This record gives sequence, structure tokens and C-alpha cells, in this order.
Amino acid sequence: MVSTQISSATIGFPRIGPNREMKKALESFWSGKSTADDLRTVAEQTERVAWLSQKDAGLDLVALDSTYYDQILDFITYLGLIPKRFQHLEPGFAQYFAMARGVHGAHALDMQKFFDTNYHYMVPELEASPAVEADWSGLLAKVERGQAVLGSDVAVPILIGPITLVSLARYPEGTDASALVGALLPAYVEVLGRLKALGVPEVQMHEPVLALGTANELQADFESSYSQLAGVGVPLNLVVYYDDVEEDVYSWLVRLPVQAISLDFCAVPGAAHGCATAATIARLGFPEDKRLGAGIVDGRSIWRDDGTAVDLLAALRARLGPNQAIVVQSSAPLLHLPYDVRAEKNLPGELTARLAFALQKLEEIVAVAKSGSGTAPPALETFGAAFPSDEGRSGIDASKYHRSEDYATRRPKQPQFRPFPTTSIGSFPQTEQIRRARLQYKRGIISTEQYKEQIGVEIGYAIGLQDALDIDVPVHGEPERSDMVEYFGLKLDGYSFTEHGWVQSYGSRYVRPPIVSGNVTRAGPMTVHEYRLAQAVTARPVKGMLTGPVTMLNWSFPRKDVARSVQAFQIALALRQEMEDLEGAGCRIVQVDEPALREGLPLKERRWARYLDWAVDAFKLSVAGAKPETQVVTHLCYSSFEDILPAIDAMDADVLTIENSRSDNEMVLALASAGYARDIGPGVYDVHSPVVPSVEFLVDKLRSFSSTGILGGDARRIWVNPDCGLKTRRWAEVLPSLRNMVQAAAILRAEV
Ligand code: GLN
Ligand code: ZN
Repeated sequence: MVSTQISSATIGFPRIGPNREMKKALESFWSGKSTADDLRTVAEQTERVAWLSQKDAGLDLVALDSTYYDQILDFITYLGLIPKRFQHLEPGFAQYFAMARGVHGAHALDMQKFFDTNYHYMVPELEASPAVEADWSGLLAKVERGQAVLGSDVAVPILIGPITLVSLARYPEGTDASALVGALLPAYVEVLGRLKALGVPEVQMHEPVLALGTANELQADFESSYSQLAGVGVPLNLVVYYDDVEEDVYSWLVRLPVQAISLDFCAVPGAAHGCATAATIARLGFPEDKRLGAGIVDGRSIWRDDGTAVDLLAALRARLGPNQAIVVQSSAPLLHLPYDVRAEKNLPGELTARLAFALQKLEEIVAVAKSGSGTAPPALETFGAAFPSDEGRSGIDASKYHRSEDYATRRPKQPQFRPFPTTSIGSFPQTEQIRRARLQYKRGIISTEQYKEQIGVEIGYAIGLQDALDIDVPVHGEPERSDMVEYFGLKLDGYSFTEHGWVQSYGSRYVRPPIVSGNVTRAGPMTVHEYRLAQAVTARPVKGMLTGPVTMLNWSFPRKDVARSVQAFQIALALRQEMEDLEGAGCRIVQVDEPALREGLPLKERRWARYLDWAVDAFKLSVAGAKPETQVVTHLCYSSFEDILPAIDAMDADVLTIENSRSDNEMVLALASAGYARDIGPGVYDVHSPVVPSVEFLVDKLRSFSSTGILGGDARRIWVNPDCGLKTRRWAEVLPSLRNMVQAAAILRAEV
């Protein structure tokens, strides 16, 4: 049978350039070193390279992905949804980058995580009845460039769908979201008409909001909007990604008046729920008169396809019949992957052979579409006897998840302090000297000894300052860590690091997540040396500092051949050994950071419990081996976690330090009303701001804690600390801030 019905398409691609061209061009433009024209030239060259590589790989349809900063910001601009504080600025780069980064007198748009990815978008600010003054010229010019580069039968415009756009936006309370969608529709109708006139083969309407568990509430919005949009007469491809769609959503979704529907068959990497989309289609079928965009090549995993995509395609064809038009695609836009694995020269060959970054995913899409035979790489190393089951629990004795004594019994045996004990979250300024030393060490300009000596000096400096400031629980300051995940990843076996594996986090900020590439085990002590250096120069108990297993995993590329829980448990066991070594070295307080715990929450709430269950167990597995006398601290840093309060309680940490200062004690209140009973250190000032908080401000903040009723006001168990680590601040800010913090604690203490 000739598979004339199987073609291939993309739905998004890295926008940063193979060599981070966009970052360099943006930063140079912002610093005034290059002109707007220079920036435009690089941007158009970068998009051209990206688009051409998709066409050259053999894709039938190429989505015209590209942006100067963020695709949502692009649509804010196209739609003319410019908040008042930016309206005096000249449209164009001045206004666009002001919204992205703020200017004097007008703070930037807020930034938020995009669905469950590590990408951050600029949050649209809508008024209750927004004045939509669309100017699509930027988008239309891009489409024309795309058509010139690719041909008009290949170039496909992307529109962020109106319903997703509104769902990502902030608007006054009580505003009717459907009315907001309605207000945007005329602009969408207009642009669809203009795109039709340009002769595009179709328009991709990206509506990832359909993957949320709450999407069923949007049925009426989708039906009325899309019937209007369909009226224009340009073929529409409704594109959904980041998860499967619920069955009730699916049943009305497939009846929308669009020509194609693109679905995610891979969902979250490593998630246990498998391919729900395929199951839904098997049960409910798919309309013959629509094209199915089959997102069967995993767009969020860096691993080569192991044959799954081919199997899925075969199953779909068997179910839907040979006449069903199917387009093979990535499950999600490829922007969450690094550009090209061929740029990696220092990874072990057998690992490289298993990896597929964005360019390699293109080859897979085409291979799957063309021959129905994907690449079948060698399977990853199989697991040892300790992790035989899917959840990886059966090798671990149940008692290992629990401290040997409960909180009430063990807490009195732990270090005791005066009321309102003071501490910090771990890192101190990563100064120019530290960064220079690290770079020189990396380049072999200074020796290991010289580097270690420099780090030792920094640690001594940090401890001396904290002693002088009279901080009860000092930290060593983390000068040896460029990044809290990378540092441990480099010390653990089973982690690999790329040289060029950059992924956009937001705007011009890219991250290079490490890869979990095998069974994770501890090669040797990871933090004991630095702990000892710090403890040697102070009589106060230095707090040990580890990155928790869930954060390690959520900020890495996980394996795909075993469940994420299994990987988290392996990391947990390594940390457990580290805890033991720290205790052996005399450490009595250890902080295990889990700032990314909440980030791993699945999009659909009904899947939260399962995730939280293993995530909390992984944390507990790391720390529960501690002696009752050892104080276990954890740190969480996001300003809202009401929805995971029971999980936080279940972590059973002796002390919980949390980000708090940007909200109005929201979390303290929530913890208080939930009856949270262990020590807590709500952040007293925002580390993201260079402003030095005054003593009065800090005293007020501390007083406000008692008004929440937390811990019945037990001042010995209310800790005083900043919101988060201080690595991005300068000493000139940190010193007076901490001094004021200690003074404020002293004032409160005198009142106890
Ligand atoms: N200990 C880390 C630090 O202080 C915690 C960072 C974080 O929460 N993101 O830098
Ligand atoms: Zn933090």
C-alpha cells in the first residue's frame, strides 16, 4: 500500500540559533553595542537557518516558529494589548523590550512558567474590556519571509489560539473570560483573512490549554470561536500539546470545524500514564474528513525513538484505515530541546548514539513518516536488582522512608537556639573573583590546588562575616557551585553534561540541563570537604547544603527507559549516603533544597497525587536516615503552594524555610490554618530585589508572623532568614541586609 496519506510536519523549533546567535545579538543590542538593524539581520538569519534545516530534513510542512524574545509577547504586540505603562514608548523594539525587561518607571510584564515546561512566558495583562488594536504586519512579514525561504506550499504560520492566550493572561477579577476571547476574535478573523490571501496551506492554531484537566469548561468558547474562525475559509489545524486531552474534551474537540487536529501522543517525559491519546482514538475513533496531526515523535525527550513512534503509527493506521490522512509530528514544539547533538564532541559515543536533539528529531519525524521504520538504538543499560519494579520501590525497605523517631520526640535532641534564630538559605554572592577562578580552573590556567585554595578563602570569608553578624546557623556560601544541580550532577555517576545543549528558559536566558544517562550512584563525598572547611573556623553549627532528589530530576533531562520515580530514588539513595558522611564529619544541621518540587506537578490535577506520592518519598528517602539528633531543613521557593500543603507536611522536615516576602504571608497563613507544627522560616525579604530592607520593615514582617498564629507564636521555632539564596546579589547589598535582619530578630527577641 502506498502511504500517500502519511506526511510530516513541524509545530515548533528552537528559536535561539545553533550557536546561541539570538542571545548574543540581543545582549549586544541591549548594551548599545549594535544597532536595531544588526539585531534584525541576525534574527532573520537565525529563523532562516532553522526553517531551512526543517525543509532540508524533508518535512512536508514547516511551522514558522521564531521570536525576538517570547511568542506570547509577540501576540501581545500583534494584538496591540500594550499595558498603559508602556503606551508612551515607541512601538517596535523600544516598547517590545520594555515589556519584556522593564524600563525606568514601568516594570516588566510578569513572567510565568509555560504549562509544565521549564520555559517562561510573558503574562498578558488584559483590561476588562480590552481595546484590541491589532497590527499584524510583523506576523505577515514573517510569513512572507517564510514563503520566500521555503515556498508557499511548505510554510505554515503559527497563531497562539485566542482561548489559550486569554487563559495565560491576567485580568481584573470578575471579568468574563469568554467575553475577552470574544473581544480578540475580530483580530483573529482579520489575520486569517490576510493569511488566506497570502496563500498559506493552513494555519496552525496552538491551543495547549486543551491539555489541561479543566479544558471541558471551555467547550462553549471553542465552539463559538472556531465556528467564527472557520468562516474565513483558510484551513485550520488545531494543535494541542504538553499532554493528552481528556476523553470528554476529545469528543467535542473532534467535531470543531477545523481541517486538522494535532495531538500529543507522548505527553510528559517519563510519566507513567502511557499514551492516553492512542487509547482514546482506539476507543472513539477519529473523523475521516479531518487530518490527524500525530505527535508521535517525543518532542520533550532528548532520547532517540526506540521504535515506539513506528508502532504507534502502525496502530493508528490499523485503527483508522488506509485513507486516513496522518501527519507525523513531534508531540510538542521542539523548543524544549537543544539544537543539535552533533555539536557534542565530548560525550561518550554510546550515549551520543542514543540522543536526539531538535535536528535529530526532524530526521526521526521524516523517517517514521516515510518508511514506517524508525531508528532502533541499543536499549539503555538495564536496571540492577534493587529496582526491579516500575515504581522502583520493591528493593527499598519501607522503614527507610521514615525517621527513626517522630518530630516531637527527636526535635528536643537537636540543636537548640535562642528565640528567632537567624540563618540564610545557602548561597552567597558569586563574585567576579569566584567566577574568574572557576573559568581559569576550567581552562587549566590555574591548578586544582589553586582553585580549591581560592574556594577555601571564600568559605572562610563567608563564615567570618556570619560570625561577626551574629547569625546563629551559618552556611558555607556555596562558592564552589556554579549551579545547584550541575554541581551534584558532576559529582554523581550516571549524569552527563553537554557543551552546547542550551535550551531557552526565557528571552535571552538559556539553560543547559544535565542528562540522567544511567543509574545514578554516588562516586564519593560531594560536600564534606567544604563543610569541614567552614566548620573548622567557627564554633557555630554550620548547615550542610544538598540539592534534593526531586529538584535534581526536574531540572535535568530524565531517562525515558525507567520511571522518573526510579531515577529520583536513585538520587535519593546517593544523597542519603552524603547525609551519613556529613553527620560523620560532625554536621548537625543539613538543608536539602527542593525548590522544584512543585514544578513537577502534572498538568492534570487528578495525576498530582501519584506524583506527589513518589516525590515526597524520594525526599524522605534522602533524609530519613539521619540520626534523631540531626536537624533536617528543607527549602521551597515559590510563592504559592497551598495546593500541596499535605505533601509539604508529609516531607517531615524539622525546619521548613520558604519564599514568603513577595506575598502577604499567604503561605504562613495557609500553613498556620493547616495546623503545620514543625519549625518554619518564612523569608523576611525578597532576594530578587537589590533594595536593602530596613530594620523597621523587617521588624514589621516578623511581627506579622505572630498575627498568623503560626506555631502559636513559639519564637524558638520561628526562624529568621531571607526568601532564598543570595548568589545573584552583591556583598554590598547582602551585608547591610543581613545586618538589619539580625537586628530585627534581636528586637523581637527582646520582647519575648
Ligand atoms: N541553597 C540554594 C541557594 O541558596 C537554594 C537555591 C534555590 O532555592 N533555588 O542558592
Ligand atoms: Zn529558593
